[in-house]
Amino acid sequence: MTASTISGKCLCGQISVSVPQAAFHKTENIGLCYCKNCRQSGGCLASYNLHLAERDVKVQGQPKIYHDNNTDSGTTLERAFCNDCGSPIYHINPKFIGLIAVKLGIFDQLPKPGMALYCKDRPHWNKAIDGVEEHEDMPKLTEHFKMWLQKLYDGSI
Ligand SMILES: [Zn+2]
Ligand SMILES: [Zn+2]
Repeated sequence: MTASTISGKCLCGQISVSVPQAAFHKTENIGLCYCKNCRQSGGCLASYNLHLAERDVKVQGQPKIYHDNNTDSGTTLERAFCNDCGSPIYHINPKFIGLIAVKLGIFDQLPKPGMALYCKDRPHWNKAIDGVEEHEDMPKLTEHFKMWLQKLYDGSI
């Protein structure tokens, strides 16, 4: 039996991504990121990401990878986007092996995020969202954060 999945695709339709239905609505695994690099890479106010185990994600089509080495943290992120229409598809942080951040803007449904990162870079006129955990930059590596990462690795989300 295969678990039911939900799919999104880039603007031109060449690349599609499916994730487990169960993971899709996990508010605590959905984040907005207001950092400058996310903004520039999407031409938008914030990136909108679903964090989950890479093995649970199926990508069809061949995205182009941009190695983003000018990040605030110093880590080189792999940013995947459609080579034809430019839609951001996902990003991978090599510090967190086995995890992936899928860009939720390519899906029809838009589930609510549970966290916001790099709020220090958010413009003052953009208000915080009710019930969303705010972080000035990256979350600190607290016990809570480590447990959350472990749950993502285990796929017990
Ligand atoms: Zn495309
Ligand atoms: Zn970011």
